[in-house]
Formats: sequence, structure tokens, C-alpha cells
Amino acid sequence: QDKPLAGRIAVVTGASSGIGAASAKLLAQKGAKVAVLARRKDKLAQLVEEISAAGGTAIAIEVDVTDQESVDKAAAKVVTTFGRADLVFNNAGVMLPGAIEERKLEEWDSQIDLNVTGLMRVIHAFIPQLTQAAAEGATVDLINTSSIAGQYIYPYFAVYSATKAYVSHLTRHMRVELGAKNVRVSMIEPGIVATELQGHVTFQGAKDWLANAKETIEFLQPEDVAQVVGFLAGLPKHVNLQQVVVMPTKQG
Ligand code: NDP
Repeated sequence: QDKPLAGRIAVVTGASSGIGAASAKLLAQKGAKVAVLARRKDKLAQLVEEISAAGGTAIAIEVDVTDQESVDKAAAKVVTTFGRADLVFNNAGVMLPGAIEERKLEEWDSQIDLNVTGLMRVIHAFIPQLTQAAAEGATVDLINTSSIAGQYIYPYFAVYSATKAYVSHLTRHMRVELGAKNVRVSMIEPGIVATELQGHVTFQGAKDWLANAKETIEFLQPEDVAQVVGFLAGLPKHVNLQQVVVMPTKQG
């Protein structure tokens, strides 16, 4: 089938770069109408242009997921533009490794506020649309971006890893609860992906570790993870692949 996601209405957070941008493109290519959400308007506008030029349908919505009102407004805008969403890729996140002893409360806070509470704000805003879509008989997906860091133990990644462990465990619970209503809930746990994510790191120990990893490992590309998103969304309605770990082949 050329457009397996035709008729689907997708929302992608963290869509202005990296995994979110690549996934928005792929979902549009597969026929979904896509709302792309992030803070950087210019990047979103560029993405919408690219998707439109390739024959897809997309709308940019400027959103700060640390602000519930902003996310709620975006949810309303999706409905007035496309109708209720049936696919939410809950993907915005930030990674700020650091030694616990440095006590960078601001970096702890921003990771928790984006990766945990931000993810919850998106769930809060879009759950009514997803359950409505399911009640109408649509195939429905909530896909959360977790990380292999949610399972593995790395020095200096305690706070980030804990936020992702939260995402993974939340997903397992929500799947059971919402699956009963025909809403599929899944998570993707990637290893290292070449995106802007590493660019925000301030801690030298982690910068060195990442620089060394880059020399020895061919990182995943955002498009590799986008393929997983497309695969999950394209599964038959009765199949919910709960958890996908996708690693660079050489990453241990
Ligand atoms: P990027 O930094 O490229 O993407 C992060 C996205 O989140 C951007 O689009 C950014 O957009 C958005 N974002 C950040 N803050 C906010 C905010 N307050 N409100 C709305 N959007 C926000 O990195 P990735 O693509 O790698 O990251 C995507 C997800 O993948 C994250 O959850 C990350 O933890 C996870 N991940 C990444 C891995 C990697 O190695 N790259 C590995 C495992 C998981 P903007 O700044 O425009 O708002």
C-alpha cells in the first residue's frame, strides 16, 4: 500500500529537529495529516514547506510543552484544522547529564519539567481526542519517546535516565489502561541518535564520552527512528508493539 496512514491525523511534539522532524516527514509521506509542534517557529515553517512540497499535508503549531495552556491551545487547533488526532508522537525532550555532586538544580528541573511533566501535559491535552477517535473505530496510537538510558546504568546520567525510566514505566501502565479502550500505547527506546540533543550538554565528562563514542560508533540517524514510528503506527489495529529498543549496531 502506497499510503498506509491515509486518513490518520498525527501530532508530533519536538518536531522542529531530530527524531520528531524526521518522523513528521515520514508520517506525512505515508499519508497522515501531521501537526508539527515545538517552540522554534522558523524550523516548523520550513518543515511544513518541505512536507507540502513532497505532496503531504502538515500544519505548524508553536508550542511550549512546559506550559499547559500552550499545549491545550495546540490541541484545540489540531481539532479545528484537521479534526481529532488519532496518533500522538510524544517526543519532545532534553538530555543534560551531570555529576550529581555538582547539584545543578536548574538542569535537574528542566529535564524533569520537559521529559516527565511536559510529556504528561501532552497526554493531558490529547487523551480526549485519542479516546474519541478510538470510540469512533479508528486505529489510535500514543507513542512516547523514552531512551535506552531508561534501562541502562550510566554514570552522570542519573536524572535524565530516571526521567526516561518514568516514561517507560508510565507507558506500560497506560497501555493496559487505555488498551482496553482500543488506544495503543507504545514507547521507543533509542540508543544514540545523531541530533541536536547532544549539543545542549554542558558537563565535560559527558561531552568527552560522547565525542569518543562518535569516533567508534556509527550513530543512528533520526530517519532510522522515524521508521520505527511509521512501523508502529502501521501495524494492524489489534497489534500493540509496546516497546522497541533501537540501537546503533556498535553501541554496547
Ligand atoms: P533534538 O534536540 O533534535 O529534539 C528535541 C525537540 O524537543 C526539539 O524539536 C525541540 O524544539 C523540542 N523541545 C525542547 N524543549 C521544548 C519545549 N519546552 N516545548 C516544546 N518543544 C520542545 O533531539 P532528539 O530528536 O534526539 O530528541 C527527541 C527525543 O528523543 C527526546 O525525548 C530525547 O530524549 C529522545 N532520545 C534521543 C536520543 C539521542 O541520542 N538523540 C536517544 C534516546 C532518546 P524547540 O527547541 O524548537 O522547542
